[in-house]
Amino acid sequence: MKYVSTRGQAPSLDFQGVTLAGLASDGGLYVPEVWPQFTADEIAGMAGLPYAQLAQKIMLPFVGDCLTSERLLELCEKAYGRFAHAAVVPLKQLDETQWVLELFHGPTLAFKDVALQLLGLLFEEFLARGDDHLTIVGATSGDTGSAAIDAVAGRAKVDIFMLHPHGRVSDVQRRQMTTVIAPNVYNIAIDGSFDDAQATVKRMFNDAAITGRFGIAAVNSINWARLMAQVVYYFYAALQLGAPGRKVAFSVPTGNFGDVFAGYVAAKMGLPIERLIVATNVNDILHRALSTGDYSASTVTATAAPSMDIQVSSNFERLLFDGCGRDGAALAEQMRTFEATKAVQLTNAQRESSAALFSSERADAGDMANAMRWAYEMCGEVLDPHTAIALHAARVATNIPAGVPIVTLATAHPAKFVDAVERATGLRPGLPARVGDLFDREERCDHLTGGYDEIAAYVTSRATARNG
Ligand SMILES: *Cc1c(COP(=O)(O)O)cnc(C)c1O
Repeated sequence: MKYVSTRGQAPSLDFQGVTLAGLASDGGLYVPEVWPQFTADEIAGMAGLPYAQLAQKIMLPFVGDCLTSERLLELCEKAYGRFAHAAVVPLKQLDETQWVLELFHGPTLAFKDVALQLLGLLFEEFLARGDDHLTIVGATSGDTGSAAIDAVAGRAKVDIFMLHPHGRVSDVQRRQMTTVIAPNVYNIAIDGSFDDAQATVKRMFNDAAITGRFGIAAVNSINWARLMAQVVYYFYAALQLGAPGRKVAFSVPTGNFGDVFAGYVAAKMGLPIERLIVATNVNDILHRALSTGDYSASTVTATAAPSMDIQVSSNFERLLFDGCGRDGAALAEQMRTFEATKAVQLTNAQRESSAALFSSERADAGDMANAMRWAYEMCGEVLDPHTAIALHAARVATNIPAGVPIVTLATAHPAKFVDAVERATGLRPGLPARVGDLFDREERCDHLTGGYDEIAAYVTSRATARNG
């Protein structure tokens, strides 16, 4: 399998290449040259497989000959063996229509573990083949940081620099990053929003002074391997609900458009998905883009669902690429306009192709709290704020035919956002025992103002050069 850049100018890479890369050298994101397809019979044959075996089957076409199928299965078994639930991602029923898929049983209590536990093993596997040293630079709205740090802390040949917006992540989220004391882990709090942190990271990926010296890699969902790992649970849930014989809809709490893009990939591979509902909070750029074609960023409002407090959704570029017939030059022009003016209009072709599968809903703080209360009082399910936003979107959606189950992706454990959960339900969910004495541990974190030069100097003075 070859991977091409959405902006059409970067060299194509194989799976190992895209896993170890950051942005493509033309500023674009890597996507598979073609979407692999499964027939309905092949999908039916996957019913009942344990999670790791299903993951191997779904991912093998993307991995190509970079791993044998046996090795891929070993890595999947190791990654998903760290989950605290035998089903890895259990599916629960709320009422006749509504279901939730619990993706938060990994080590750091959010769905990011599903992809990052595997990505950490892929880094190790591929780095063992050469002399390269990897420098991971990432931005986090809270959950990517802890999941990525857990996945690589203490590993050889890799350092991780993780930027988070100071004061805008929950206490549990911050402590899950800053209490990991390992020589290869650097936490940086910056003044500003997640978008500012993400812009810094993207600039670093395009900074020849840095990429010339260091092997810079991404753990954000600009990394293709992350999205690939997330495709699996769409199949897993749909198979349990009768796919391929029956269609299923999904509602996805969306920030950087990675998780819901994985659903789009599942549909491209042949999974019969009725609809993907993109749920946003008041930071609703994606809702506006999908409903009116207006992709324009405004300022970020901090909410109780910080992982959705995003205005620039990196992976939307991957959808726009398919929506313009994979015309890299046209997309590069469109993205340059967006980067310069923070606003761009979708073309008719982009609007029509996205409308065939996606719809969107926006939830404010009241909608979120009501959905959380409904799930708790009517169904005994305690949801985190992100999941509650998507459940709200699932319940108000009017375009899902009767009889089609709607699966809301439960992206975080409620104990990660305990104050918001208590405000809505009166309940204070406790942290699972596996996270240990989080609040007694020492924290290590540097606070920088967020200026690019300062952050670049910080990384340059601490990172290990490519062949070091
Ligand atoms: C990261 C995250 C999201 C958003 O996922 P994207 O792939 O960025 O759209 C939603 N909920 C939680 C809890 C998250 O950590």
